[in-house]
Amino acid sequence: MENGVMMQYFEWNLPNDGTLWKQLRADAPHLREMGVTAVWIPPAYKADEQQDEGYATYDLYDLGEFEQKGTTRTKYGTKDELKKMIDELHEHQIAVYLDAVLNHKAGGDFRETFMVVEVDPDQRNKALGEPYEIQGCTGYSFPGRGDKYSDFKWHYYHFSGTGFDDARKRSGIFQVQGEGKAWSDGVDGENGNYDFLLCNDIDLDHPDVVAELNSWGKWVANELDLDGMRLDAIKHMKDQFVARFLDAVRSERGDDFYAVGEYWSRNLETLDNYLKAVGHKVDLFDVPLHYNMFQASQEGKDYDLRNILRNTLVERCREFAVTFVDNHDSQHGSSLESQVEDWFKPLAYGLILMMKDGYPCLFYGDYYGIKGEKSPHAKIIDILLNARKKYAYGDQMDYFDHPSTIGFIRTGDEAHVHSGLVFLISNDEAGSKTMCLGKEHAGEVWREITGSIPDEVTLDEEGNGAFSVDARNLAVWVKKT
Ligand code: CA
Repeated sequence: MENGVMMQYFEWNLPNDGTLWKQLRADAPHLREMGVTAVWIPPAYKADEQQDEGYATYDLYDLGEFEQKGTTRTKYGTKDELKKMIDELHEHQIAVYLDAVLNHKAGGDFRETFMVVEVDPDQRNKALGEPYEIQGCTGYSFPGRGDKYSDFKWHYYHFSGTGFDDARKRSGIFQVQGEGKAWSDGVDGENGNYDFLLCNDIDLDHPDVVAELNSWGKWVANELDLDGMRLDAIKHMKDQFVARFLDAVRSERGDDFYAVGEYWSRNLETLDNYLKAVGHKVDLFDVPLHYNMFQASQEGKDYDLRNILRNTLVERCREFAVTFVDNHDSQHGSSLESQVEDWFKPLAYGLILMMKDGYPCLFYGDYYGIKGEKSPHAKIIDILLNARKKYAYGDQMDYFDHPSTIGFIRTGDEAHVHSGLVFLISNDEAGSKTMCLGKEHAGEVWREITGSIPDEVTLDEEGNGAFSVDARNLAVWVKKT
């Protein structure tokens, strides 16, 4: 999709009122108008409790259809509302990506007794003693759903580890013992082996588990007519499972079934190696770019803006980078808190929405606000989305030549009349840059569209213009028509 924009349509503090699917359905025409071309929806299946965001997954097949865990609906609504919402988004040519949590399960139905070895949290390959018996909540019978859609029942041997011993009421990392039991390879190397994250860690080496999850992937993609998935916590999952899972879903839905993975690492080599390991079957969120923007927002004028794209995924592997400013995990109060400061957010969104490379993802919290409090950024994001739609075409020429004022030109293309733009950001004083649009633009008058600079610029006979930007602000210049 040319100049596509994904929107993450949730934040961490949404009320547990079951209205998100209805809200999103009603919002479809507006999203289309804004320029949103795909929506990433939160985990839509039953979690361990109604108020959970969906990441403490209980039953992947319960999309708000069965009375389980004391509720039929999820935090976001019922299956019927979910399906109607997706139909409405499709009516408006907006793709839908479901958040898929396949690393772990929570909220088991019954306790089981089994052998484990407790391991060192900092060195998961190191046992802290001899094997012993614990009780874990690892049995899943799905009493409300029964065998509908799948008769697979989960037991302790479908997991590689669990985080709680119910017999002694103790937390820890307990590796399940038995034939062939081990942490998976092809996971992140942090803590020796980062297979285990939390709850009941799904054993992605178990053939029955793999078959069941592949089967679910095909089922849910068909059932909800999905266009793609956002894969949660993939640094904790066997990489070859992820590759085969996508093969399975694509065999059903076609090769253009979209996938982006959450691999939370700011190490570019790690991300690059992961892409190679999975045969580039999945895009990744550009976590290094997020951290560059976070750092730039914290350091203010001391940050050298020429480094803003340095060691990022969008610089190294541009075709596979999903660029984002913040998400539900980086926002204040979340597990990976690293929220980009407010003053820098418009600059950050300008960068990811105007530049040629990367598939930008807009965060609900930045557009609609957090905890019901209105976002101060909606207006500038609207302007930038509109600019992306109208002007952000053609090649990019960078002017990353000053520590506190950088910019680029988008040359425009023939398919989009009057397209092309000049983009600038400053993290210090107001600045100005002479940039060359080329002789064919000689004599044109250009104007600034975010409203920060009232003066116009007339290009000289070579197509040069002196484009300015306000202090700690952004500027987007386009041809006056
Ligand atoms: Ca895992």
